[in-house]
Amino acid sequence: MKDKLQFSIWFLVAAFFLMWAINIFFFAQPSPKQIPYSEFKDLLRSGKIEEVVLGDKVIRGTLKKEEDDKKPATEINTVRIDDPKLVEELEKNRVKFTGRFDESWFKDFFLAWVIPMGIIIFIWMFALRRMSPESGIMAIGKSKAKIYIDKDTGVTFNDVAGCDEAKEELKEVIDFLKTPQKYLELGGKIPKGILLVGPPGTGKTLLAKAVAGEAKVPFFALSGSAFVEMFVGVGASRVRDLFAQAQEKAPCIIFIDELDALGKARIAAPIGGGHEERENTLNQLLAEMDGFDTQKGVIIMAATNRPEILDLALLRPGRFDRHILVDRPDIKGREEILNVHTKGVKLAEGIDLKILAARTTGFVGADLANVVNEAALLAARRNKKSVEMNDFEEAINRLVAGLEKKKKVMSKKEQEIVAFHESGHALVAESVPHADKVHRISIIPRGIAALGYTLQLPTEDRYLMTRSELMDKLAVLLGGRVAEETVFKEVSTGAQNDLEKATNIARSMVKEFGMSERLGPITFERERRPLFLELGGFSKSEFSEETAKVIDEEVKKIMSDTYTRVKEIVAKKRDKLDILAKLLLEKEVIEGDELRKIINSQ
Ligand code: ADP
Ligand code: MG
Ligand code: ZN
Repeated sequence: MKDKLQFSIWFLVAAFFLMWAINIFFFAQPSPKQIPYSEFKDLLRSGKIEEVVLGDKVIRGTLKKEEDDKKPATEINTVRIDDPKLVEELEKNRVKFTGRFDESWFKDFFLAWVIPMGIIIFIWMFALRRMSPESGIMAIGKSKAKIYIDKDTGVTFNDVAGCDEAKEELKEVIDFLKTPQKYLELGGKIPKGILLVGPPGTGKTLLAKAVAGEAKVPFFALSGSAFVEMFVGVGASRVRDLFAQAQEKAPCIIFIDELDALGKARIAAPIGGGHEERENTLNQLLAEMDGFDTQKGVIIMAATNRPEILDLALLRPGRFDRHILVDRPDIKGREEILNVHTKGVKLAEGIDLKILAARTTGFVGADLANVVNEAALLAARRNKKSVEMNDFEEAINRLVAGLEKKKKVMSKKEQEIVAFHESGHALVAESVPHADKVHRISIIPRGIAALGYTLQLPTEDRYLMTRSELMDKLAVLLGGRVAEETVFKEVSTGAQNDLEKATNIARSMVKEFGMSERLGPITFERERRPLFLELGGFSKSEFSEETAKVIDEEVKKIMSDTYTRVKEIVAKKRDKLDILAKLLLEKEVIEGDELRKIINSQ
């Protein structure tokens, strides 16, 4: 907002100077010579004046030319003075004269300033519109929160690579949009709202457009963040507009980008922060979503990279109840994305996109599009006929540096640490008897916080856990940190979340489950009460300080025993750990079966 304002001020200043220059160069006539009235009279009397124009306040005159003079006649200009004899004298000297109103300044001003100004403002507005992030074919309304309608987005699934799971899930929606009758007759239920969740730049917007493109239906789009800057009352009516129009054009897709900006949990807003407008808009959106049925063939899609802050009302059944994860692409996905974006680029012989994909761990689709573009620019700057490998290398290096600074991708060293960390979890999980099987390990940052992940799937639904199962769970949690320590002789902050979870489990074992030998089968955990009751001072600790000390000691003991146990496991299978980590660095993802083969090999 502020940027735009500054931009427009500078633009106006620049436009002003530009027009000033234009005026000087094009409009400036040879300006008439200013002379005193007395001199004018002298010229008149000596017969040197050819023609005059008498204005109310000024007199313009043209001097007589000599026969062979090629130059334009000299013009003179004088202030008119009350002189009743003037006309008489003009007639006497046979000067051609005309009178006129002094409106010329107005015409000049209009020609030289108003019209060009109008043209410039027009161009400017046009440019502004083109610059807005998702300029559409047509925009409704003058407000910032524009609804964009694209009759045909022209984007297909071929333009979106590396998110096959999401595409698979969206196929049903496309089918429905193509032939709603089929579903209507069968009475099938189609989700009303689909929420695309994933980090920025992974292609959520692109995917939504592709759904519309594949189904060949109109695409109505609206960005949640635009509402934040809006005038009171506009947001809600805009939403109403959007739904009314969409219903007329059904089947179609309504897409709300950056849903989090609009749908932030209502309580999360600062008190008295004046977010009424957002709330009204959100309420209107909820009302509209409830008020119409999918049978008409309108599907609402939304995108967010912060699902955790969304108002729960938005996620209720009948609203955005279908969530589709659009995660960072793995190495294969990145290769496919590079493939898509290098289609229109002239590549040198022997460029292997696989290698480029391997070098871009953690990059999202938008980053990869950027790499290709940057590489092409570099090649052009070097006057090459095609884009070569070293152009790509340099483009990647530049982007990595930038992204590392923004903490968006990991450096080589960090990747290595994460690889050993996750391998440690997996190794321990497969080495203790009671842990859930490892489904997959990965060093691709997942979601927004975690660096890598180890996915364990419980083999069955659990209601009870035995002591040894809990102890094994603890062991797995510590596996990451122990592996780091064993390999690098140093620990990183990456294990903080693991330690927190582990400590909670150990504490619960002692205080809630009565699993400590020293304290015996006693539970010390109080029933949790609402906070205000505790303020009354009735419910102080129900155990002595001494007991508290013992509890702490017991928790510590469980933790340190487990730590020793895990260290032994890791030390014994150190070779397997190295193999796993190396493979993980190479492939980024290892599936459970392959992992078990490695760990159980001799
Ligand atoms: P998001 O909405 O998730 O932030 P966008 O859809 O706006 O991401 O993606 C920005 C650009 O990055 C797209 O226009 C496209 O050029 C490129 N891009 C992102 N993801 C992909 C992908 N999976 N396949 C191909 N291109 C992609
Ligand atoms: Mg987007
Ligand atoms: Zn971990």
